[in-house]
Amino acid sequence: MEPIIVKRSNHNVSRKNISSAAVKVLYRLKDEGYTAYLAGGGVRDLLLQRNPKDFDVATDATPDQIKKMFRNCRLVGRRFRLAHILFRGEVIETSTFRAPVPEDESAYCENTYATGDTGMVMRDNIFGTPEQDALRRDFTINALFYNIADFSVIDYAGGLEDLEKKVIRVIGDPDKRFAEDPVRMIRAARFAGTLGFEIERTAYDSICHNKDLLAHAAPSRMYEEVQKLFFCGHAKEVFQWLEKPDLLHPMFHDFSHWIDEDRSRHTWVIHTLEQMDRWRKAELRVHPALLFALIFGEYHEYLIERNLAAGQSPHDAVRDAVHGHLKGICDNVRIPKTVIYKISDIMGNQERFHKTKGRRPQRFTQNRNFLDAFLYFKFSSKAHNRNLELLDFWSDLRKGKQKQPTGLQKKNTPDTANQ
Ligand code: ATP
Ligand code: MG
Repeated sequence: MEPIIVKRSNHNVSRKNISSAAVKVLYRLKDEGYTAYLAGGGVRDLLLQRNPKDFDVATDATPDQIKKMFRNCRLVGRRFRLAHILFRGEVIETSTFRAPVPEDESAYCENTYATGDTGMVMRDNIFGTPEQDALRRDFTINALFYNIADFSVIDYAGGLEDLEKKVIRVIGDPDKRFAEDPVRMIRAARFAGTLGFEIERTAYDSICHNKDLLAHAAPSRMYEEVQKLFFCGHAKEVFQWLEKPDLLHPMFHDFSHWIDEDRSRHTWVIHTLEQMDRWRKAELRVHPALLFALIFGEYHEYLIERNLAAGQSPHDAVRDAVHGHLKGICDNVRIPKTVIYKISDIMGNQERFHKTKGRRPQRFTQNRNFLDAFLYFKFSSKAHNRNLELLDFWSDLRKGKQKQPTGLQKKNTPDTANQ
């Protein structure tokens, strides 16, 4: 298929807006005689006049050839080998054009393709043409290239038209593409929410009837993608796109059932996501443990109360509630153990905010887990309009502490943003 090629004079992608590291990689590849394209989300975001999060490069140079060209290069990936070219503070992911998944079972062989029972691609490692590489990407708007040789934009999949129309359209048959990689369903929700686009009708319908396939996605990849959902700066809109086709159930089964029992529980989650978006806008770093502690906070509080009512000690009530719930989620979304322990800490530390006598409060503020626990306390106090005097007490104590030249105070923590 002939691609649509848009000349430099007819589009707005400028080298000025591409990171100098990515421009260096593109030029080096081109100067060595290879095809070198900026690819994926970077091109999409530049065309939309948004700031790309990262820049990916696609080329016909093989991973070994790329490695020889760049001293600062590391080859990564078991499933598909690609090059990470390291610059100060930036990694340019550079991959060789990929071939499509073959239709024909006989084409599957060791080290190339293998598919699981659900049609999911387990392993792939063969190279292809630029067209094949474009068409194996997830959505048309993610399949655009910017060619460093003549500064043109190359469109094999109709992505330019879909950018105009503001639609997320799957490349190829949505049922098949979602079966190959179910994570694409939550990516669709992320792009729709972040960009303010609609999900094209057949893709949306396909998500509705394929959502249970999410249970087959690799839990570690799900964890990566789930973090992107909530850290993208448009978490609230993304969440609405997850709720519409009911993608939450296959990801967070017990939690979403619990929300369904009483829709007022929804409010907490929405407020959490608004808070995440405010922090993100202020460019503040939030640990994933605080993110998950907040999202599941009201549910965990409910489980803790239930355990206490059943006679458990405060310590056991928290541990059983948090670990019990999150361990279950890990079958679908593998939240690392360290993060689960930190969430448990945040919840377990909440009762310490009720003890304001003596030296205890001072000592607590010096605990390295204090800040995340405090941010949770602050958020939950405001959300439930409770403990407001206690909140003043701890806020004052913190402010007093900030004046001390101890060097303990981190810069750019969410605590310093307006909430
Ligand atoms: P972001 O702005 O979040 O970085 P992105 O589109 O760049 O969005 P990445 O996860 O960085 O998303 O992936 C880079 C590119 O790789 C995508 O634009 C898309 O072309 C391709 N891609 C990523 N994940 C998949 C997938 N699951 N299936 C097919 N193609 C994918
Ligand atoms: Mg990207």
